[in-house]
Amino acid sequence: MTAKSMMPYVEGNSAIRAMFEEGARMAKEFGKENVYDFSLGNPSVPAPAEVNQAIRDILDEEDSLLIHGYNQSNSGYEDVRSIVAEHLNQLHGTAFTAQNIIMTVGAASGLNVALKTLLDPGDEVLAFAPYFVEYGNYAKNHGAVLKAIPANIPSFQPNLEALEREISGKTHAVIINSPNNPTGVVYSEETLQRLAAILEAKSAEIGHPIFIISDEPYRELAYDGVTVPYVTKYYRNTIVGYSWSKSLSLPGERIGYLVIPSEIDDFENAVTAANIANRVLGYVNAPTLIQRVAARCIECSTDIDAYDRNRRALYEGLTEIGYECTKPEGAFYLFVKSPIDDDVEFCALAKKYHILVVPGRSFACPGYVRIAYCVAHDTIVNSLPHFRELLEEIRG
Ligand code: PLP
Repeated sequence: MTAKSMMPYVEGNSAIRAMFEEGARMAKEFGKENVYDFSLGNPSVPAPAEVNQAIRDILDEEDSLLIHGYNQSNSGYEDVRSIVAEHLNQLHGTAFTAQNIIMTVGAASGLNVALKTLLDPGDEVLAFAPYFVEYGNYAKNHGAVLKAIPANIPSFQPNLEALEREISGKTHAVIINSPNNPTGVVYSEETLQRLAAILEAKSAEIGHPIFIISDEPYRELAYDGVTVPYVTKYYRNTIVGYSWSKSLSLPGERIGYLVIPSEIDDFENAVTAANIANRVLGYVNAPTLIQRVAARCIECSTDIDAYDRNRRALYEGLTEIGYECTKPEGAFYLFVKSPIDDDVEFCALAKKYHILVVPGRSFACPGYVRIAYCVAHDTIVNSLPHFRELLEEIRG
């Protein structure tokens, strides 16, 4: 018998499947080029050529037993972790070593390892709406409870006043995500300083540390020269989760890492617990060949100009038509105010115009929709007249 606890996921899954099936059906009926599918965060820029070359070189040059074997440590190859640490130190002026790095199966497993390391059943973790829908599921995996902090509209910077009100003796962590999915907002240095001050004061008040878990798969995707502050520099009890899914377009390879700074409370136990969590959650170690690829490609970057071109075309096109949205500074999403109150109804109506977008309530922020612009540039250009017709129908 399927576990009762899985049934809400099973039921929810039919809606997700229905959306995929609808997209596939529409592509078949109207032609792929006439369907404007903005529903998925799958990178549209191919991985840099260096990645494929690195795979070939590693296969030619390195010991087959080592590159395909279990890692000696569940945290990953020591030399790869040193390269990651050194890279971060060069970029951010930090002082990490291999000891502070745990290679993970993408950001998703990194978050699960971090949550298992920090939380006991019944503990609470907070996240600023809108947030990546899986955070709630990941918290549940560990018997913890995710509480949403209401959105700060229209800036979508974290709502710090609401955070302060929501923290209780049960709060053990706050997940942040900048550049943000689904808004594209980058948290400013001032925001992080204020967040750090609140968490320090509240940790002292409640008698245990409140950790920041900084989920950063979009760190390198920032536009207009905007810098994405490195959170460990602002708040001591921070664990960073990173992934190459978006920055090197490798989401299927499942590769990322956690940074656990030596300065955090109870560092020795935490880093050992995270290493063990990697094992007992069943990840064992991050994919070995791809760990080595990531190390060889540590200086590589994606073609950010392609995403930037899409961002400008979509933002300028939609605002010119009359849609309201905050200009994204990072990631590859635009969060648009639904022109009708019901965002789910808007998404259903958009399908009539062959446009597939995701309702904001999937990110705990109803009344908005997410448009993922990691698509071919033509998809954006060709979709704009359809967005116009859609708005005209709504406005009558
Ligand atoms: N966190 C956020 C905010 C995401 O958008 C995603 C994927 O889209 C993930 C985590 C998971 O990333 P990964 O593929 O590295 O597991």
